Amino acid sequence: MTDLTSQELQEHLEEQIEFIKSSATSYDNGFTGESKRLAVTVRVLVHDTAKSTSLLSLLGKKNRGFLDTSFPFEESNKMSHSGLVQLSLGNRKSITLPLLDDGPFSRQASFEIWWNGIVFVDKDRNEFSRKDIVLSLANKEGGAHVDKTLDEKYADLRKGNSLGWFDVTPDGVQTPSEDQVPASMRQIAHEVLKTLEPGYACHRGKNKGDGILVMGASMVEGVTPLPIPSQNLPKNRPTISGQKIGRNDQCICGSGKKYKQCCLR
Ligand SMILES: [Zn+2]
Repeated sequence: MTDLTSQELQEHLEEQIEFIKSSATSYDNGFTGESKRLAVTVRVLVHDTAKSTSLLSLLGKKNRGFLDTSFPFEESNKMSHSGLVQLSLGNRKSITLPLLDDGPFSRQASFEIWWNGIVFVDKDRNEFSRKDIVLSLANKEGGAHVDKTLDEKYADLRKGNSLGWFDVTPDGVQTPSEDQVPASMRQIAHEVLKTLEPGYACHRGKNKGDGILVMGASMVEGVTPLPIPSQNLPKNRPTISGQKIGRNDQCICGSGKKYKQCCLR
């Protein structure tokens, strides 16, 4: 056994970055199945387990701020939440698009807060993180492996329209809106690219959807948008007496500060 040199590891990193870019281009040209290959590449770059070490860890580069472009999940929002996409509401059908560089947020988060950050909350208050999406697409849905079963809540997110969005045609026919997972994966890949190459930029293609664009809180809250907090919440945030900690609760570390001003940062 010989260890790879740091030069060789760096070449692997450059190759993985090219994989993301070429899959992103393919996705943007209309092949949304490419979201699975984006998931595999992101997994190779960041996912550490007891048995395998991610490429960024091998390079000592995981200890950096990760770009977080998500709309923060606001706990008092009782409706479903989609944090990484915008919808183009056309005449007959809505199209789900990644935010890319068109969203209002651009902040840095630690890897753990980013990876576990909430991407979706469904009608039944089930939360889904970047980690859930990347690992399911890569390990179960055909990125690197096809599994016979899917977690029920996740399957509902993808196929059961558990976010509860519908398209209504001019004649009043309701159909479930499109699955928002592929576009969210595209956005996660965008965040990883910009984390590794801060100068990288990508905006919505001009040919993608010509309807009215909606994103974030106004999309889920209707007429009066809630005030938008600055930081997103991680799915694996600590619990207090069985309840997940709220932004304004006292932090569990005993500092006496609010969670949002303490360990959430
Ligand atoms: Zn704390």
